[in-house]
Order: sequence, then structure tokens, then C-alpha cells
Amino acid sequence: MKKIYLETFGCQMNVSDTERVATLLESNHFEITPNEESADIVLFNTCSVREKAEHKLYTRVGQVRNSKRKKPFIGVLGCVAQLEGETLFKKIPGIDFVLGTQAVGRVGGAIERVLDGQKNVSDLGVREENYDWTTTETQRHSPFVAFLPVIEGCNKFCTYCIVPFSRGREKSVPADVIVRQVLQLRRQGVREVHLIGQNVNSYRPQSEAGLENFSGATPFSRLLRAVAATGIERIKFNTSFPRDFHSDIICAINEYENLCNWVHLPVQSGSNQILRAMRRGHTIESYLQKIDKIKNSRRKISLTTDIIVGFPNETERDFLETVKLVEYCEYDSAYIFKYSERPGTPAAQISDEITMREKTNRFKKLETIQKHNQIKSLQSFVDQTVGVLAEKMSSKSSEHFSGHTTCHKVVNFISNRDVLGKIVNVKITESKSNSLFGIIC
Ligand code: SAM
Ligand code: SF4
Repeated sequence: MKKIYLETFGCQMNVSDTERVATLLESNHFEITPNEESADIVLFNTCSVREKAEHKLYTRVGQVRNSKRKKPFIGVLGCVAQLEGETLFKKIPGIDFVLGTQAVGRVGGAIERVLDGQKNVSDLGVREENYDWTTTETQRHSPFVAFLPVIEGCNKFCTYCIVPFSRGREKSVPADVIVRQVLQLRRQGVREVHLIGQNVNSYRPQSEAGLENFSGATPFSRLLRAVAATGIERIKFNTSFPRDFHSDIICAINEYENLCNWVHLPVQSGSNQILRAMRRGHTIESYLQKIDKIKNSRRKISLTTDIIVGFPNETERDFLETVKLVEYCEYDSAYIFKYSERPGTPAAQISDEITMREKTNRFKKLETIQKHNQIKSLQSFVDQTVGVLAEKMSSKSSEHFSGHTTCHKVVNFISNRDVLGKIVNVKITESKSNSLFGIIC
């Protein structure tokens, strides 16, 4: 039986794609191995959102090629494969096949062709109509937490972003398929599902199937209610696109305890001028109205975001508006990125007057301010008792566990009994810079 080693770069969507690729390959009689050295085939599932992620592929292919062991076949999957296509064979010597973001369902066939001696195999085609979205328990990143794509692709074309080119147009998974999957996952012992998509709240399925009994202002808030009604213990969802964030999502969170109290709402910048240049489709005023509604919700909702610092020609004044916004929103946490030029996007055409040094200074400043918010948010949990899904046991001690709260805080805790896979009450005794620490009650 041929052995396959899979490595994933990038977002939850890529992790989820890898899980389905592994599921498929396992059912096609390949063995998935965690050990790169013993693999006959090495697959890289790639990310192209920032330049750094792309470079990782170049480094890793080189490492595999130059290692002293037997030479495995190398396949590149995902966003870089979709964007570069067959040019990758010239750019990175040693690659045997490339499979685009929607072609991953045909990975078994591509590998068979390579094993039969075909050179430079590539498939950048579209997804099959009957694509199977399920994953087996053995191939999920966690037995207790499952990622479930509900929408793929992106129609927004923010000027800095490569995703609409690498992942194609938005396409929603029918609600009845999603609900069936959640029920199946629940039967398999999954306690928490993450409904995922580049813009999960732009969900717009072609039919009503699965939503008939659920009301709501948007298809997404109806989907949330339909999934909540399955009774699965926890439902998280991300990423939410600000323009499409309807307040009915907050109503649904308030109605159903199993809809988790966490919203990830990427703002990208605090300056209307930059938001316009980014073509984000929201203004700071419209964004803040949504933030105020989230903050005034009956349930306390944790709030996280993404921010890009150093978009072309971002002025000091623009940056200070971002600082002001971050101070106002008091995000529980934030992913702050330095702008990375992506060839082929409209922003890459802008000639930029701002030096890299200045961008780095701004990045560091904002990081410090946000760190302060994060520490304050984590400290507010000390002495409280929170529900934690025990996802992992420490390899060092069978008394140390880690997991997440409903509001997606990482909690490390001590328990004198095995609680793996259970949702337990933990008394928080200490807050660290990125996580909480506590003892089981
Ligand atoms: N669709 C989501 C939204 O619009 O908020 C975000 C999905 S995107 C894959 C994840 C994050 O990557 C974005 O929120 C943005 O902050 C960051 N990102 C995308 N393109 C980038 C670029 N060219 N440079 C730096 N960060 C970038
Ligand atoms: Fe990229 Fe904008 Fe689409 Fe998000 S909404 S994936 S940032 S183009």
C-alpha cells in the first residue's frame, strides 16, 4: 500500500480540504502517514494569501527533494496550484503534479496517473456536482471538533486579495446537506462544529431545502437556526463579512445557547479612505453600528478581527484612525498583517510612497495596542467558571488538558480525571498573554 504524507499551509478551509483529501485517499486504499520520511507521495496543500505562505512551498519542496532518503512523488494542491498551474513545473523543479482548489476530489486519479509514469499531471478543473463533503473521524484534525465548509469561493474582489482568483466564485452548500452532516458528526462524537467559508454570512444556497422550517432575515441566519436545532453542543462560524453581517445573526445567538458567543468580523482598516481603496464595501460608521449591536447583545459576545497595516499609500492619519478603531472596539484578539503585494490584484498596480520601515513601525505599534486589549479581555475571566471542551491531553502529563471556551478562548487546565471530549467547568485561576489557565471544578 502506497504511503501518503500531507502538509497544510494556511486557513481553516485548507485544513478542511486536506481532511477530505485524506478521507478520499484512505478509501482509495492509500495509507496516510504522519511520517514524511516513509512516504511514497508527499502532498502540499498551499496558501497564497500572503507572499510568505507562498515561499514556504518553495522551501519545503527543496527540502524534500534534497533529503537523502528515497525520492517521493510530490504533488501541490490548493491556492498556489490553482494560480500557477503548469508553470509550477518550471518554477519549482521536482513537482510531479498540481491540483487546483476545486479539483481535490480527483486527487486519487491524479496520483494513479503519476504512478503510471505520466509526467507533469495537472487538473485545475471545477468541482464535481456530486462532490462528497464528508470526512472520516480518523482524518479530522480533532475527534471532537469538525470544520464544515458551507460556502466556498469569494465574489467580493477586495483590491489587495488573491482569494477570488484562487478559489473562484461563491457557491453555497445546500442546507439539507449541511444539516445531515452535522447530525452525522454528532453521532460520531463531535461536540463542536465550525461552519466555515471565506465569507460565511454571504451564504446563499440555490434551494430552500433544509431551511423550510426556519425563519430569519437572511439565508445565513436561517442556516444558523437550522444547525442549532440539530442539538449539537456547540456551533461556531467564521469568517463573517462586515457588509453582509445582519443583526439577525445576533438574534439567533441570543435564541440558541449552542450558537457560540464569538464573532470574527474583519475590519481591515479604520480609515474610510483606505476602506474605499480596498473596495471593502463597508465604512467605519456602518462597521461600528454592527459592533455596537454585538456589544449590546444580551449574551456577551467575544469579538475578533483581521487588520492589514501598510496598504499602499496608507498615511499616518489613516493609521491613527485604525489605532482609534482598535481602541474603541477592544477586540478580544486580532490577526494583524503587514500588507503583502499579490501579483494580479488591483492594489499591486498602485505605486506606494510608504517605506517598509514605516509599515513595520506601524505594525509593531498596533500589535502593542491590541496586545493590551487582549490581556485585559483575558484577565476579565480570572475567578470565573467557564465551560471548556477538553480537546487535547498534554503529552507530558495525563492531568493537563487544553480546549476552548464557547467564546473561543484557549484554556489550559488541570483535571485529576480523564475528561477528553467532554465539556467541563473550569475555574480560571490565571490569565497568560494568549490563553487562560484553570482547574476543573
Ligand atoms: N473574507 C474574509 C474577509 O473579507 O474579511 C477574510 C479572508 S482572507 C483569506 C483572511 C485575511 O487575510 C484577510 O482578512 C486579510 O486581513 C488578510 N489578507 C488578505 N490579503 C492580504 C494581503 N494581500 N496582504 C496582507 N493580508 C492579506
Ligand atoms: Fe479576500 Fe475580500 Fe474575499 Fe475576504 S472578502 S476573501 S478579503 S476578496
